[in-house]
Amino acid sequence: MYKCIYCNADIIEKSNEHIIHSALGSSLQSNRIICKECNNYFSTKESGYIDNKFVEQFVVIRNLLNIKSNRGKMPPVIKKLEHEGSAILLEPGGRFAYQKSKREEVKDEEGNIQFNISAPNLEKAKEQLEHVKKQYGKGFSSLDAVLRKTYINQPINLKLIIGGEENTKAVAKILYNFIHYLDRESIITLPSIDWSNVQNYLRYSQDPDNKDTGIDYVNPIPYSIPEEDLANYVFISGSEQQKLIYGHVIVFGHITFSAIIHSEYEGADFSYGVRQPVDNKQEQIFLELKNQKFNPDVIRDKERYLEVNIEGMRNSLNKILKIYTERARKEEQDRIISKAMSEVFEGYDGAYITKEHIQKLSSKIAEDFVNWRYRIDTDSSIDLEK
Ligand SMILES: [Zn+2]
Repeated sequence: MYKCIYCNADIIEKSNEHIIHSALGSSLQSNRIICKECNNYFSTKESGYIDNKFVEQFVVIRNLLNIKSNRGKMPPVIKKLEHEGSAILLEPGGRFAYQKSKREEVKDEEGNIQFNISAPNLEKAKEQLEHVKKQYGKGFSSLDAVLRKTYINQPINLKLIIGGEENTKAVAKILYNFIHYLDRESIITLPSIDWSNVQNYLRYSQDPDNKDTGIDYVNPIPYSIPEEDLANYVFISGSEQQKLIYGHVIVFGHITFSAIIHSEYEGADFSYGVRQPVDNKQEQIFLELKNQKFNPDVIRDKERYLEVNIEGMRNSLNKILKIYTERARKEEQDRIISKAMSEVFEGYDGAYITKEHIQKLSSKIAEDFVNWRYRIDTDSSIDLEK
């Protein structure tokens, strides 16, 4: 029988623990490390909701990069944003949309009623139309609908708060989970180590000695991560010379946190890691890493390293935003091209592409491209009753 890594009790009732949070797209988990009681504890107020808080920090990034949870759940829609007096929301993939439909009724002298409906999307416009029909039960004498593509030209604030006490604990918890995952899933054999300090810190909030755990972006990561790799990584090392067990958690390939989980370690050197893709592909475990020199001062002397850390975080976030912007650009280009293709070749079943086709294609693509590039609002009529 396995013992709980948090309270040392026998694990009688199996309880699943995600090593890296499922909401960050990771599937790495084990039911051999935590007892039910401790697992429940981490979702109580008393625990500081460290897991939830850790995940919440990345909500905006998850949304922009469209990262589904391990259970296939879409990233959350971000609500309550504001743009020129209207409520807008951010849909998965970083698409802004108006939050609400609007309906206006105007009656003229002869008793004709005109409805003006504006809706964030076609589906919601049709819903509004159904409401009107239900209310009046008659057809319309005329129905004009326009699809307007509009650009947001004012900056919209998206809050991103990363760090803090709970974050530090969550990082230490991931590292602590990971090293036990390797042991309990028989990937390594962990020597006997006294974990009472980290247990007290994580499970009982007792040891205030958490100056030994923390966040940094300064230490080199023992693995080179390609810029476009959005996988989650965990690296953990033990150093006999430094008497430390420490590690790094890298969220979405860019946002790096470090923590020390043992500062009186006397065993042999080790270095393990895992790369967990966010699209549910199989994890890769690394059982040997090029050993790095870890500088614990960046964690212990936070003041001194604060500036470097802020700069490091800014760089990481910029890289993520670059990935998002490039994706959005590519999507828009694909959309422009496929729209032009379908318009030009609709109903055509000839074998050759003619000069005329090419002219039409290039002018349509050029026009849409210019509208998009220079953010020009465009209207096109649509048939809402289709
Ligand atoms: Zn327990």
